[in-house]
Amino acid sequence: MNEQKLWQSALNEIELQLSKANFITWFKNTYIASKKGGVVHVAVPNAFSREWLENKYNKYIFKALRDKDGNIKEIKYIIENKKPVAQTAVSEYKQEEVEETQLQFEELQIDKETNLNPKYTFESFVVGPSNELAHAAAVSVSKKPGLMYNPLFIYGGVGLGKTHLLQAVGNKFASKDKSVVYLTSERFTSEFISAIQHQGIEGFKDKYRKINVLIIDDIQFIAGKEQTQEEFFHTFNALHEQNKQVILSSDRPPKAIPTLEERLRSRFEGGMLVDIGYPDYETRVAILKTKIKNKNVSLEEDVINYIATSVQRNIRELEGALNLIIASSKLNNNEMDLERAKKILSHLTHKPQKPITYKKIVQTVSNFYEIKEKELLGKNRKREIVVPRQVAMFLMRKEMKSSYPFIGERFGGKDHTTVIHACEKIEKEMRENNDREEELDFIKQQLYSD
Ligand code: ADP
Ligand code: MG
Repeated sequence: MNEQKLWQSALNEIELQLSKANFITWFKNTYIASKKGGVVHVAVPNAFSREWLENKYNKYIFKALRDKDGNIKEIKYIIENKKPVAQTAVSEYKQEEVEETQLQFEELQIDKETNLNPKYTFESFVVGPSNELAHAAAVSVSKKPGLMYNPLFIYGGVGLGKTHLLQAVGNKFASKDKSVVYLTSERFTSEFISAIQHQGIEGFKDKYRKINVLIIDDIQFIAGKEQTQEEFFHTFNALHEQNKQVILSSDRPPKAIPTLEERLRSRFEGGMLVDIGYPDYETRVAILKTKIKNKNVSLEEDVINYIATSVQRNIRELEGALNLIIASSKLNNNEMDLERAKKILSHLTHKPQKPITYKKIVQTVSNFYEIKEKELLGKNRKREIVVPRQVAMFLMRKEMKSSYPFIGERFGGKDHTTVIHACEKIEKEMRENNDREEELDFIKQQLYSD
């Protein structure tokens, strides 16, 4: 049996013992790099995967390989990214390597000055009835910044394309004039605080009052932060007076943001308010087809339609479901049919969503990383515990909107700055690291699954 076949048949056995999500997360892009004198070198894409395979799955891997070849005595894990195509056990074609390199390249391309991600463009945005107004407003603003609608305020639920549209305007503008900055209101707040702490407030004022287009995502998080609101109010006025464009997003309209200062609320309402709603079936299918085309893969029509029916209220999750299907299809020699798809997405379909609780997050995260809940909530500082703990904190912040001090309290009385650090770290990793983003997609799908 050659190495590729050996690994494939070992994977078939291992797959039966793990959850789908775990299997895909940890075994994707692995292969046998060499086999000599009873020692098998298994190649993995990064240090994190190596740690996991060594510490958690070695016994499964060892057993599966040894069942096939009794001479195997030891498994070693090595990090290797550039796999020769012929050696990969999961059947892939050259195209994927090209695509992956492009993806990594794209991520590195997040502009250091503007913070814009070039993948968010108008070209890659599918327009449908749920978002056509917001799209039209964004396009107008990108053509005549500062003159049409100021500020442009886009609001709507999670995963419906607000960030995409905001950044599309930014990218369009940046192609002519780099004087645009994109940031979340949380980042605005933390830069402001750090400017105060380090006597850099003049520099801070200067930076944000000089640019031509200021884009602040998720402005609702500024609520309740009085000093930051005050500073933002002055920044806003300074820009507005000079006809500089301000673009904002929020998960709800200004009047529904509690503890937002009245004067800011009235400024926001003085511009153009547009909402993004849930995409209809046709738009969901169109979005899936666009993504499939960009990923250079193919899927049967009925599978695509099935994905579109399974996820209705969140385009990020729609993409997550698609990625799950594609990953699974790649692990199975590009085979995918409606029956398989139904199995893979069975956790998603037509279940009323219960609100997410602290307990559920702790349970789901411990399950996913296969650690004990006690460890997750404890003080162990081993990396394999610390990362899941940070993920759990991040999810409490994002999915439950818990306050930082509250989260700290729940995780063994940690200081709120520790929690802020954890959330920012995971957020950054998600932006810069495909694997982390995928992991979180999986976890969120499980979180919302029953
Ligand atoms: P939000 O900021 O509203 O939470 P995002 O802008 O981050 O949502 O969108 C979530 C994901 O869905 C992103 O990957 C984005 O590219 C994709 N997406 C959202 N709307 C569309 C659309 N109309 N066409 C194509 N992709 C979309
Ligand atoms: Mg967003």
